[in-house]
Amino acid sequence: MGKPVPIPDQFSAFHWEGAARGELLVQRCDSCRRFQYPPSAVCESCQCRVLTPAKVSGRGSLYARTVLHQAFHPDFADSVPYTVALVDLDDAPGVRILTNIVDADPGELRPGQPLEVTFEKRGDGAIPQFRPVSPVQGGAA
Ligand SMILES: [Zn+2]
Repeated sequence: MGKPVPIPDQFSAFHWEGAARGELLVQRCDSCRRFQYPPSAVCESCQCRVLTPAKVSGRGSLYARTVLHQAFHPDFADSVPYTVALVDLDDAPGVRILTNIVDADPGELRPGQPLEVTFEKRGDGAIPQFRPVSPVQGGAA
């Protein structure tokens, strides 16, 4: 079986196609220029229907997090405990993504902590997740 894979619809297809390439994409309204995520048919600010995919850096900061100790899907049994978080994107003001935090001790995560996107391969695609921005060590990026 394995963990669930995303099922893109006509509005979110660009997002998942980007994730499969290792890029984080959100929507940007052509009219009021606001960023938006998750993708939808209309701009939530001005109801404009012309929204364009916008690639962002994947840098962000932690807004809030919780730790799940119980698997609500059998294929997540090996993943608990895991961290579910809301992340504010640095270069897409107003966008707050519901995601997972990986490569981090949940107890050491603090609001405002700098994070960066990372992609977990799943099926033919990938799931955007976030991890603490690692300090430069030994030349590794
Ligand atoms: Zn708009």
